[in-house]
Amino acid sequence: MAFSVGETITIPSPIDVHAHLREPGGETKETIESGTYAALMGGYQAVFDMPNNPNGMQTWSEERIDQKVDIAESDAHTHIGFYAGVNLEEPALEEFSGMVTKAAGLKIYMGHTTGNVKEHDLEVARPSIDAWIKASRVSGQDANPPILLHAREGVGEETAEYIASQGYPVHWCHLSTNTEAQSAGQLASRYPEYFTAGVTPHHLTMTDRDADFKYGWNGARMMPPLGKEVDGDALLSAFNSGQIQILETDHAPHTAEDKQRAEEENPEGHDGVDCTTCFGVSGIEFVLPVMMSLVQRNKLSMDRLVEGLYNEPARMLGMVATGRAITEIVIRPYEIGSDDRQGMSRNNPYVGWTAWGRVSKVTIDGNIKQDNGRFVQKGGNRILRAGAEV
Ligand SMILES: [Zn+2]
Repeated sequence: MAFSVGETITIPSPIDVHAHLREPGGETKETIESGTYAALMGGYQAVFDMPNNPNGMQTWSEERIDQKVDIAESDAHTHIGFYAGVNLEEPALEEFSGMVTKAAGLKIYMGHTTGNVKEHDLEVARPSIDAWIKASRVSGQDANPPILLHAREGVGEETAEYIASQGYPVHWCHLSTNTEAQSAGQLASRYPEYFTAGVTPHHLTMTDRDADFKYGWNGARMMPPLGKEVDGDALLSAFNSGQIQILETDHAPHTAEDKQRAEEENPEGHDGVDCTTCFGVSGIEFVLPVMMSLVQRNKLSMDRLVEGLYNEPARMLGMVATGRAITEIVIRPYEIGSDDRQGMSRNNPYVGWTAWGRVSKVTIDGNIKQDNGRFVQKGGNRILRAGAEV
């Protein structure tokens, strides 16, 4: 046991490099307000929002980033940053010079997920990658906003290497298999300065049996899908050794109706283009409680947890880690209840789990934001991108 029951520990507040806040376009699932509130209750100081907004509201233009920033300035409960996106089939490369100084990075979808059904390879993505790197270098900024990849297996490996070998930061999102963990380890040793990989709490703690035998669409069908035990073991071991650097939530809220429809029409979880799908789980508020249970059970090192939630996210995003935001956690086992859920969506698997550690206080930039699970104040939040202090 790493900590005593009743002890209060203090860590630099986590940064989530991968969340889907859905606004604008998907406000029935989550908003910038509700998603950052869940993050704050979970002890986070900052959330980075993905660009694949629903209903045609993708973040493919400078104007859309401006719109998100406007909403965040009044609504966000934590620091926040926004990724630019690109339609690989019709890339609006003329938007890049405007986006590259406002976005926290560029997210490229090469594989199948919600709102994106085709598989793309490096050849398709190369013009966008080249244009982003060029735009960042031409802009003359001190720190480069990274390129993040939603790509699997060989496509992910090849594309990450293409970017890292040019001396540009690249992050391979949500690894989910043993082979990806091995590839990431090799890339991390070849390009330690430029390459990072991420894993989600659910890929560390769950397997495909949870999807097929227990939760179905509501709490366990995601993209990339949950793997076998051998995959989970490899991911956990790679995360513990630092070969996978970052723990990212992929917080993906959905309405109960959308999850229900996928369950009714596609109980086996097929992911074909013609199938009804609704990938993803939410639950940023449960990351620390659930991960602290792994620490207490000696499955995860506390040092690596802090690295994966704070130091490595800051480094990947080109930010300066100052430790200025602090999260307190009371170490005690408890059963996660339905009322512990935050945010607008209910599609997460953690109710009923025995977690260790309740987030008891969050202080961001000197302001106490939540105390004993109670919201204290908004305000004082920043829009973050490369070069910022966190
Ligand atoms: Zn995602």
